[in-house]
Amino acid sequence: MSRHSQEVVGFFKRVEPELIDLIRELVELESPSGDIERGREVVDWVEKQAQGLGLDLKFERHKAEDLGEHLIIKAFPGSADPILLLGHLDTVHPVGAKAKNPTRIEGDKFYGGGIFDMKANVVLMLAAFRYFAETGTKPAHPITIVLSCDEEIGSPTGRAIIERGAADAAFCLVFEPSAAGRVKTGRKGTGMYTVSAHGIPAHAGLEPEKGANAILELSRQIEAIQRLNAPGIGTTVNVCTISGGTTMNVIPEYATCSVDVRFTTIAEAERIDKALNTLAAADDRVTLEISGGINRPPLERTEQVVALFEKARDIAASFGYELGETQVGGASDGNFVAALDVTVLDGLGVTGDGAHTLQEHILVSDIANRAALITLLLAAQ
Ligand SMILES: [Zn+2]
Repeated sequence: MSRHSQEVVGFFKRVEPELIDLIRELVELESPSGDIERGREVVDWVEKQAQGLGLDLKFERHKAEDLGEHLIIKAFPGSADPILLLGHLDTVHPVGAKAKNPTRIEGDKFYGGGIFDMKANVVLMLAAFRYFAETGTKPAHPITIVLSCDEEIGSPTGRAIIERGAADAAFCLVFEPSAAGRVKTGRKGTGMYTVSAHGIPAHAGLEPEKGANAILELSRQIEAIQRLNAPGIGTTVNVCTISGGTTMNVIPEYATCSVDVRFTTIAEAERIDKALNTLAAADDRVTLEISGGINRPPLERTEQVVALFEKARDIAASFGYELGETQVGGASDGNFVAALDVTVLDGLGVTGDGAHTLQEHILVSDIANRAALITLLLAAQ
């Protein structure tokens, strides 16, 4: 175990009771996406905590129409490209949910709405700053923290703020929940499409031959759509909803289906997009209409991502902490950053479970280790 690592872990073990109190305070401030008043309260809380650290910090608050406020904190000014620490202050839990999952510690489990996704992790960002402030040391780069208020509803206004924050970043650490402690070195991109068939209606009994059956045509297309799957390389294509026709006795004029697409590379996204947009009707009396497209680009497990993960893993090993990696199907705001060619390591949050449920919790025993890992990663050249 290296002496520096040991000293950093020791620091966070010592201040752990204070970190627990801070996590409890932040979790108790319920902040569902879109609650402007409560959203402002959590931004006030974070700003006040950061101001108390005695560092030279710059704060920017960006009002998000009808949603709340995004907070940007800039620290450790210097000429190097900044490291972007990305997180969000909104949760999926409605006001009052804390009565159903009270903020409490039972054994090693620290329960609370939004504690795992991701309020404990916001406290980790502040804890790293506190370490630098109290030891008079500095991270290797300037740091920009971006905390958005609308991540849980797809980042309609946060996306632009995040992309601006990422523009000149050396790399980006995303404080989303880990997967059983493992960081996320890949997230699939997502696409959503609608495929519709316009046929010709006719009486199903008297003159069905005059009709062109939209449901039959769409059924044929669905076979072709499902054949686009390539699970071996992480591409999934699934028709998820379907509707069509009007009533018995009528050859259906119209049918429509929605298609969920997930991919790990842009090349695959383009292959699927092209295939869907060039679907051809088997019955030439039927017209196909395709809409939709790629929503989020993939967070690809590039060489740079692997190198950043390995750096984090080696730092963790320096104090006897084992760090694993995984790739997941769900997207995060990290996907937007990765699309700008910035190296992203996601899922740095404290180990826990039950995101978005009333069993949401973190493990107390992981707080100091995770804080140390992040601090050492920020300090590393
Ligand atoms: Zn989250």
